[in-house]
Amino acid sequence: MTDLLPAPTATEPTMPAPTAAAVAALSDGELDLRRHMLAERLLSDVIGLPWELVHDEAEAWGLEVSHRLDARLVVLLDDPATCPHGNPIPGTARPADQSDAVTADEAPLGRVEVVRITEELEEDGPALRLLAGAGLRPGRRAELVSRGDDGLVVVGATADTVLPARVTSDLYVRVLSAPTA
Ligand SMILES: [Zn+2]
Repeated sequence: MTDLLPAPTATEPTMPAPTAAAVAALSDGELDLRRHMLAERLLSDVIGLPWELVHDEAEAWGLEVSHRLDARLVVLLDDPATCPHGNPIPGTARPADQSDAVTADEAPLGRVEVVRITEELEEDGPALRLLAGAGLRPGRRAELVSRGDDGLVVVGATADTVLPARVTSDLYVRVLSAPTA
């Protein structure tokens, strides 16, 4: 029964002017990164794929995001400031201020908020699963408890974990509490 389907819309997707101007100024490399990140957002926010899988799935999918599809995704996803891993999306009209973020290596012990993981760490499946298992995703709170030979002991939003150096050097956090003397 085709009359149960919503009426097709003839409206050509258009990008809000501030985003359109920012996107027009991007290099080809930045544009590729932007479209990869929008595909990640689509897989994460709309399709509901687990956070630790969206980077690989976005690459495997190979979605060719045209300017028209980009414009539609800007509206659908509300011009996201970052990819699901917290990295700023080139061309967003609402860039996130991450100037106060430091690596988990540099942060004092105490309460933090996860800000982002680097693009390099997005390629590391075991590291992504470790972070996801402990609830260490952008926007979540955590506590850095102690540093030892095995790594950094962290109480995450969903579990405790020990993060090895290859993870703590590529995990950026915002310090929420001053170090205790
Ligand atoms: Zn990402």
